[in-house]
Amino acid sequence: MNPSLPDFQDVLAAADRLRGVAHRTPVLQSRSLNQQVGAQIFMKCENFQRMGAFKFRGGFNALSTLNEAQRRAGVVAYSSGNHAQAVALSASILSVPATIFMPHDASPAKLAATKGYGAQVIAYDRYAEDASALAVQLAHEKGLAFIPPFDHPDVLSGQGTAALELFDEVGELDALFVCLGGGGLLSGSAIAAKARAPHCKIYGVEPEAGNDVQQSFRQGERVRIATPITIADGAQTPMVGAITFAVIQKLVDDIHTVTDAQLIEAMRFYAERMKMIVEPTGCLSLAAVIQAAASLKAQRVGVIVSGGNVDMTRFAKLLAA
Ligand SMILES: *Cc1c(COP(=O)(O)O)cnc(C)c1O
Repeated sequence: MNPSLPDFQDVLAAADRLRGVAHRTPVLQSRSLNQQVGAQIFMKCENFQRMGAFKFRGGFNALSTLNEAQRRAGVVAYSSGNHAQAVALSASILSVPATIFMPHDASPAKLAATKGYGAQVIAYDRYAEDASALAVQLAHEKGLAFIPPFDHPDVLSGQGTAALELFDEVGELDALFVCLGGGGLLSGSAIAAKARAPHCKIYGVEPEAGNDVQQSFRQGERVRIATPITIADGAQTPMVGAITFAVIQKLVDDIHTVTDAQLIEAMRFYAERMKMIVEPTGCLSLAAVIQAAASLKAQRVGVIVSGGNVDMTRFAKLLAA
């Protein structure tokens, strides 16, 4: 592998930093799901992670590698939600000042949680402004460390620790399905999977309305799309990262897509059958497994359930539709 890309040693180092700080989330199974799909499905439930999503892993890992001077100066990030909370919580644990750019239409729960962790929040327009450019500019002006949501070696290495825990708990799998936005979770998971279960097929799953990574994967170069309109607000990324895409090209087998209706079907399954609240973006992986059932017969299949942060009124509306 390209020597500048993160590797399995980086995921192991992240796991060391996260030990005793991140939750070791449960791996759950459902008899009725196994019957429906005709496979054995292991769900790694990052909706039960601190701040409600796997993003705590990457955020905390990235902040842990900063030196004393960088910690004193502080960090800046941008996010529609979960990365904001991850950086804000990690910063509060490590006593680092944090400034976060969040879209003005971000979920009220995510906004409140980010502010609750003590971060300073600045609003931006996700359909008109380039949040990354805003964050980079502020980092430059104020000497802050910029913590991007996915395209950063320490961020994606941290995200890979969820899959690492899954393999350590259940052993080899035939296939692993991973929710996909900018590719931090998928690239980190793929690195862990190739080390722990070399024969495991790795699939990313993104919303059908925003299939930029599927297009990029098939064309062999990164494709940029307009900010997609989908209920999977954690996967509204217009383009995959450069580092994450390099890892995805090398280690991932294919990219699946699912519709918003299929996301709601998976969300209803989690709520009704497993008594779990999973946010729409966190439903991507299971929604793809349900669609691909015919090709997964009798296999051992891993599903990363990426997060559970959704406003209750929105959750109820989505299920009522
Ligand atoms: C950020 C996020 C994703 C996508 O992760 P990437 O690393 O950007 O691919 C998926 N699910 C949830 C809940 C998220 O917060």
